[in-house]
Amino acid sequence: MAGLSAAARARELGAVPVVYEKGTRPGGSMLLSSCVIWRFRDWDEFREECPGGDETLQRVVWERLDEGLAWLESIGAPVVEHDTGNPRTVGKRFDSRGLTETLVRAAGDLRVGEPATEEPTILATGGFQGDGTLVAEHIHPAGSLRLRANPWSSGDGLRLALGRGAELSAGMDEFYGRNMADTEFSEEEFVPLAQLYGRHARVYNDRGEKFFQGEVSWSENDLVQATAQQPEGRAWYVLDDNALDQPVRGGKVADIVARAPTRVDPGELPFPAPQGARVAVRVRPGITHTIGGLRIDQSARVVGTEGLFAAGADAGGISTGGYASGLAAALVFGRIAAESALDGL
Ligand SMILES: Cc1cc2nc3c(=O)[nH]c(=O)nc-3n(C[C@H](O)[C@H](O)[C@H](O)COP(=O)(O)OP(=O)(O)OC[C@H]3O[C@@H](n4cnc5c(N)ncnc54)[C@H](O)[C@@H]3O)c2cc1C
Repeated sequence: MAGLSAAARARELGAVPVVYEKGTRPGGSMLLSSCVIWRFRDWDEFREECPGGDETLQRVVWERLDEGLAWLESIGAPVVEHDTGNPRTVGKRFDSRGLTETLVRAAGDLRVGEPATEEPTILATGGFQGDGTLVAEHIHPAGSLRLRANPWSSGDGLRLALGRGAELSAGMDEFYGRNMADTEFSEEEFVPLAQLYGRHARVYNDRGEKFFQGEVSWSENDLVQATAQQPEGRAWYVLDDNALDQPVRGGKVADIVARAPTRVDPGELPFPAPQGARVAVRVRPGITHTIGGLRIDQSARVVGTEGLFAAGADAGGISTGGYASGLAAALVFGRIAAESALDGL
């Protein structure tokens, strides 16, 4: 998202950029995503939801997203829904394949499967969730998170910039993800196997301890990160009749549970079944993208370096302490990175 948006914007401004894509296809995790590009409706709510994020960077995303969305539409990106369906947020849902094709056309010279043969100006490698060593170092020592993202975002931007004196953002130990049915899964199962109903469940670790205190947030990212901190790195969602009947994602909790291959009868739990339990699902966090990364300023410059810019999940510290749209930050700072890089020439 960030790299293609940067190149498309640079071309619009008269430059001739080259995009090096390490993967076997363009689009990164954007192509796999639900493609809702959004911001909080109210500025104060953004601050409350992501209290550890850099306020200046948050302000830039919040103020410039609407312009970015209009720009995507103006270059032909297909919109599927003109609102997010969530009263807290505003934004649009795009068709991820159509959006990728539109940005690829607009980006120009895209070299798929080619490592960069020149020094990059803009880093947009999508974070470090694909590198087990970096994840173990910064996020979870046991490295037991399953990858729920493209396989190529493995911290190349982070390493390159650190070699040039870059500073790190806040929240290097945070990630955005979903508690998934605890099984192997394919890209096509990233959404259907996400168990996004933790707020309706009673949640236990393998020892039968209720480890999450307080109310689970709407994104459930707090519960996912707490699950990763459990000794076994997983949890049990225990559901009673009332929980199974709750509405979620256009259906009921029971519909998602029915598809989960790791659902068990309460009697099979490794601890005494809680009263009223009908079914339990074993879940493990899947990491979608890292939240910490390189520290950038409002012009997308990587702090501590000369002439180096970063955008997307390579740039950290925007949604620290919570969750905000990764696509929105990538779109806004991808475009800004191009503008800033050309400004300096
Ligand atoms: C299932 C799923 C659902 C999601 N739903 C949403 C949603 O609805 N809304 C939302 O806001 N976000 C969503 N996201 C998250 C969103 O996809 C990411 O936040 C976003 O794609 C980040 O943009 P990016 O440009 O940083 O990374 P990406 O879009 O992943 O692009 C990074 C690119 O860099 C390439 N790369 C890596 N290393 C190198 C290298 N050394 N050289 C060259 N290329 C390299 C990768 O191959 C990849 O193509 C979802 C993600 C997933 C997986």
